[in-house]
Amino acid sequence: MTSSSPSSTHLPTASPRPVQPGVGCRLCGSTETAPLYCINGCSIYKCRNCDAEFVANFTGDAAENSEKFIALQSDTFDDESFSNSSNAGVVRHWQREAQEIDRLTADRSGGKRILDIGCNDGLFLGCFNASWQKFGIEIAPGVAAKARAKGITVFEKPVEEISIEPQSLDAITMYMIVEHLQDPVQSMAHIVRWLKPGGVLVMLTGDSDTFKVRRVKAKWHMYTPPVHQFFFSRRSLEFLFKSCGLQTVHYKYTYGGMPVSTFKPLRLVEHAVGKMTAASPINQLPLYDHLYLYARKRP
Ligand SMILES: [Zn+2]
Repeated sequence: MTSSSPSSTHLPTASPRPVQPGVGCRLCGSTETAPLYCINGCSIYKCRNCDAEFVANFTGDAAENSEKFIALQSDTFDDESFSNSSNAGVVRHWQREAQEIDRLTADRSGGKRILDIGCNDGLFLGCFNASWQKFGIEIAPGVAAKARAKGITVFEKPVEEISIEPQSLDAITMYMIVEHLQDPVQSMAHIVRWLKPGGVLVMLTGDSDTFKVRRVKAKWHMYTPPVHQFFFSRRSLEFLFKSCGLQTVHYKYTYGGMPVSTFKPLRLVEHAVGKMTAASPINQLPLYDHLYLYARKRP
């Protein structure tokens, strides 16, 4: 497994797919789109063809935009609030998630290899036992150093600039990453090449086609353009998965610790109900706005 040359600081593959600036869907290319909201000076459009919502006016000089974009993302993730290693509840959550991936890859022989894209300080990868070889991608240097100190091999570059041996990984995880990508179709095709046939890809992102988002509309916490470039639903994610040779195995919705109410007693009730329903069959219903998708690479 090798990273690309350290001298390659240009960003050749990160431009949005230009169909018809401002209205062409950045996921499927359809012009069957309509404006939804204007937030932080960014126009958010919704595509009727693939169901994706996307920032429509993130165009212009692709390379210049990309450099600004990477700096913005890096600053965001070096913020201490994104590291939750000291919270016991958060640690238990990621331990359960690691067990789930262990189960899904139980048929894999020999030492297994996992890549966590956006690995932060390595909390999640640290939940896997020593039989796993662990790799991470993290563009924020502060937390990348913490992950490296835990014995994880960390690449400090955007996905598009990293070269990993094709078909060398048993599992790839992307928690709250896909909404940041400038060109998810191109990036996912690049990423899925690294996965062995039958290997597992797990994605977590917000789902805009859920009860909570219908209620809070433009006030949804995920609507933070330009940091977030895309706002997915299960339908638009399935479109993305199919386009890069992934087949969904199962999914679940969770509340992700983000209650709807601003009234404190109600927030406490929401926390309690959210925890109770996380592992129940109710998690198949789009009540909450955090969607986990588990997929396999087609042989
Ligand atoms: Zn579309």
